[in-house]
Amino acid sequence: MQKLCDTTLAGGEQLYDETQPTRPRVLILGGTGEGTQLAARLSERVDLTVISSLAGRVSEPKLPKGLVRVGGFGGRDALASYLLKEKIKVVIDATHPFATRISQNAEVACSRTGLPLIALVRPPWKKVDGDQWHEVANFESAAKFLDAKMGRVFLSIGRQELGSFSECNDAWFLIRAIEEPTERLPPHHRVLLQRGPFELRDELQLLRDHSIDYVVSKNSGGSATYTKIEAARFLNLPVVMISRPFKHTVNPLETAEDVIAQLDRLI
Ligand code: NAP
Repeated sequence: MQKLCDTTLAGGEQLYDETQPTRPRVLILGGTGEGTQLAARLSERVDLTVISSLAGRVSEPKLPKGLVRVGGFGGRDALASYLLKEKIKVVIDATHPFATRISQNAEVACSRTGLPLIALVRPPWKKVDGDQWHEVANFESAAKFLDAKMGRVFLSIGRQELGSFSECNDAWFLIRAIEEPTERLPPHHRVLLQRGPFELRDELQLLRDHSIDYVVSKNSGGSATYTKIEAARFLNLPVVMISRPFKHTVNPLETAEDVIAQLDRLI
């Protein structure tokens, strides 16, 4: 049988390591800074085998330390089969607050296989003095708010949901994404390919340079992209803030310390 090694198997499956049968195997569903940091901490432990799973959305992902698998599992049934085949003992869902499908699949797969599921979810941003947030429930409501507005909009929501804004014919959009969007875009736009984290002074400059009137953001939480919210506050700009969707019914933990404590109780 092939041995596990400290490597990335793009799109491939990890094979169970028969030389380490007693080391509990932990699967981290990642794709976030929190997932990467947790993998770095747990991969130093000699009493665990840690595998990080990435969706493979970006072509050059920042790889977590330790074992990594890349690509979708093929749905909840396939995820359940993977958990059994790989003899996973605990699943940690450290995916992004807006990644709902994988979380719901993980909840179902864990319940079917009887495995514990720990959720690590960073807290949402909270409005502070000076913020002018227009909070909306989803991407469609954000687009509806902007529809028929003539302003200049900074749209920094990733690539997947850009299609929701394709009918906003009157506004001009500065669209920031890590990789070239494939969704249908609004008629008036410019695409800026950049990967965070972003410095406050750069965000201020960006908003000024493009004479932005509105910022659109998901309520992602965390520090990596918060500077655009701070920049909007400094410049007295309204932020169309998209609220978080339902992820799963698991009680979320907010810190790596809490997750590790919970993991230790379980194993
Ligand atoms: P999603 O809608 O919840 O998931 C769509 C499908 O992608 C899932 O059904 C699954 O495919 C696959 N998938 C997602 N996360 C995976 C993971 N960690 N490992 C293996 N497969 C995964 O997710 P998404 O919103 O497209 O996000 C994809 C990834 O990017 C997530 O890992 C997330 O943490 C990260 N991310 C997302 C956002 C965001 O705003 N959505 C922002 C930053 C980072 P199968 O059904 O085939 O298993």
